[in-house]
Amino acid sequence: MQQTSEGHRLRSRTIGFVPTMGALHEGHISLIKRSKSENDITVVSIFVNPTQFGLNEDFDKYPKETDSDIQKLEEAGVDTLFMPDASNMYPDGFSSSITVGGLDSKLCGEFRPGHFSGVATVVCKLLNITRPARAYFGQKDFQQSVIIKRMAADLNIDCQIVVCPTIREGDGLAKSSRNSYLSAEQRAAALVIYRALNTGAEMIRAGEKDAGAVKKQMNDMLAAEPLVSEVQYASVYDPATLDELAEVKRETLLAVALRIGSTRLIDNMLVSL
Ligand code: AMP
Repeated sequence: MQQTSEGHRLRSRTIGFVPTMGALHEGHISLIKRSKSENDITVVSIFVNPTQFGLNEDFDKYPKETDSDIQKLEEAGVDTLFMPDASNMYPDGFSSSITVGGLDSKLCGEFRPGHFSGVATVVCKLLNITRPARAYFGQKDFQQSVIIKRMAADLNIDCQIVVCPTIREGDGLAKSSRNSYLSAEQRAAALVIYRALNTGAEMIRAGEKDAGAVKKQMNDMLAAEPLVSEVQYASVYDPATLDELAEVKRETLLAVALRIGSTRLIDNMLVSL
């Protein structure tokens, strides 16, 4: 991969890079399309990174659809697929880790200790291997995008971090590889996330300034759905610092993480006034 990338750079071709964990859907494809429109070459990685999963998380059952992924990447016109093995990414003796302090303990960080260090470290490695001009991430994982931008700035990684809009199903559920874990009933119940985010956004657009009132309304809606087994967070945040807000600002992030059965789902919405 390093040699392939070096060859492109020597020919003055710009590389766009889309890191993924596979089980590709239209969310991933939208990042690929954006990369293709802005770069000469588009590289996609598929790597289910063990170090970003907690002990009781879904690493072992994370969906693997390599054949259909490859077909989708060919149809999308991707130039290179990079699919490293864990043993190549983390050979014996591997002992480095990147911590993006502060940002990594908020929102999902509280419920997934070590997750964002795993993400930051693997993304740093992938960027060093691929050395793209631009790398593409989804707003769906908003906290991840904030952390990667921080890391790239702090560590002088010479790559533009591009954040692309969340792609949704027709009814509003954010596309996610983990949606495949849901039964039909759970899939219907999951729509409560989008409804709660929309309701919060509408309250803000209608002039609500009290973030606590927005938070309460979203939580009341989520609590009313019997198939929601745990609400990890649902609140109003500063999109730059990820701090919870008492008062709505000009740019406000609404974000939710919950479980339906054992499936953990996240989603968010940015509201600009
Ligand atoms: P994943 O394979 O889930 O690690 O996701 C790889 C990239 O795709 C990340 O940057 C995600 O934020 C992005 N992504 C995942 N789902 C969506 C979606 N529904 N819309 C846009 N981007 C997404």
